[in-house]
Amino acid sequence: MLELIKYPNPILKKKCSPITIVGGEEEDLFQKMVKMMYLNRGIGLAAPQVGINKQMAVVDIGDKRLLKLINPAVVEADGTEEMEEGCLSIPDVYIQVKRPKRIKVKSLDENGQETTLEVSGLMARTVLHEIDHLKGRLIIDYLNPIKRFLILKKK
Ligand SMILES: [Zn+2]
Repeated sequence: MLELIKYPNPILKKKCSPITIVGGEEEDLFQKMVKMMYLNRGIGLAAPQVGINKQMAVVDIGDKRLLKLINPAVVEADGTEEMEEGCLSIPDVYIQVKRPKRIKVKSLDENGQETTLEVSGLMARTVLHEIDHLKGRLIIDYLNPIKRFLILKKK
């Protein structure tokens, strides 16, 4: 069983490595990540949140679609929307984050096939949140230093 990594564990600040060959190891990790996401009632989970430094993430916002993303990258974005976000790795912290409304994302699927995804609203937001994780970026990084200090001193 994997462990859910929480702030301020430095693993969360590291950039993840891209995956060159998708195989059994990734399949196994996806299974464990999906389980972890559902167990914690999350709508997304990135590999560093379970201590793995790989560009992999899962998303399920409850619309009967489970996304498994490998090396996801935003190729198009438009619009902006601000919404409150939480993160399984930073419990009880909710922050207003401004993000694009619609995005086009290229990634590999669980079979190593290149796929392009066009998503909007909460799905786009969640995918972007997970891509941030793969770059070592957390929701608290969207705050100015004073606000961040005030929020995190309570933790
Ligand atoms: Zn998160």
